[in-house]
Amino acid sequence: MELLPIGPVLFIDTAGLDDLGALGEQRMQKTRKALERTDIAIIVTDVPTWGEFEQRIAHECARRHIPILAVFNKSDLHITQPTPPDHDIPYVSVSTQTVDTCRHLIRDALIPILPEEYLQQPAIVGDLVQPGELVVLVVPIDLEAPRGRLILPQVQTIRDLLDHDACALVTKERELRATLEKLREPPALVVTDSQAFLKVDADTPPHIRLTSFSILFARLKGDLTTFAKGAETIDQLAPGDRILIAEACTHHQIGDDIGRTKIPRWLSQYIGGRLQIDHVQGNDFPTNLSPYKLVIHCGSCTFNRRHLLTRISRCDAAGVPITNYGITIAKSLGILNRALSPFPALHHISL
Ligand code: SF4
Repeated sequence: MELLPIGPVLFIDTAGLDDLGALGEQRMQKTRKALERTDIAIIVTDVPTWGEFEQRIAHECARRHIPILAVFNKSDLHITQPTPPDHDIPYVSVSTQTVDTCRHLIRDALIPILPEEYLQQPAIVGDLVQPGELVVLVVPIDLEAPRGRLILPQVQTIRDLLDHDACALVTKERELRATLEKLREPPALVVTDSQAFLKVDADTPPHIRLTSFSILFARLKGDLTTFAKGAETIDQLAPGDRILIAEACTHHQIGDDIGRTKIPRWLSQYIGGRLQIDHVQGNDFPTNLSPYKLVIHCGSCTFNRRHLLTRISRCDAAGVPITNYGITIAKSLGILNRALSPFPALHHISL
């Protein structure tokens, strides 16, 4: 839901952590998995006390650095005042008999514990250009494009440019060369769908900076330095090595799908042989990452940042490098330096 002033919020109603039996264990695992993408935990209890069970959940959240709000529900039935949690955990006492008041109380209690990036959204691209400058966005309209609309990274990039008082000009890859020729001044930046990197690189004069939506989202949702370093592994891959390709959404694959067809093809051309490739989508992610030489992740536009950072730290713990779609494509097409040149934070890394 759109929860102002916070913005778009996904509430995950978990199955609880105090279930017994085999089914209970499965539910608990699912709940723990939900914590991997949780920015704030709301622990709801019907009794006005904070017991051992609530404390256990609070510890689990604290271990993951997840802020907590305690909600004592059914306050209309309580004959004693709620006992606040022993830590510095903020709490509210509510009754769903007065649902609007209940909603306002919880929303107001959430605002002070929001992660900083909720209220101060990091820039997608606006910090790479000056107010008034023009950015050309290259958006292929191919079979994979959803009918009648743009995809989320494209829309969010346009909005971010407007928020930073910059200008966006949207074109398809076939019209890019003619579009650039019509401009009186070169744009400050060209951002392309990674799949069109090769043509866009050829059609964009070398003095114009170039990157991709996927790389912008690697920085927004994950850690661009980690992903750039992960791409170094591509040079060490050999035919037969096993890698994992992970996509955050469960889109329907057709024809020349980027994760199933194009990236495997470009990689096999680059390393000179076929890799063993496993694919996962949505919330699926293997518990055991040790068989993999490399994980390649999509731009994760449908994930929150915590979700992707959890995956990055799991790869780190398993000693498996992780990189991103756009970086992999740029690397296998030989244009990684150009694609990462707009990001000053990476200038100290030799790519
Ligand atoms: S979640 Fe990943 S694969 Fe799906 S549209 Fe976003 S970037 Fe592309």
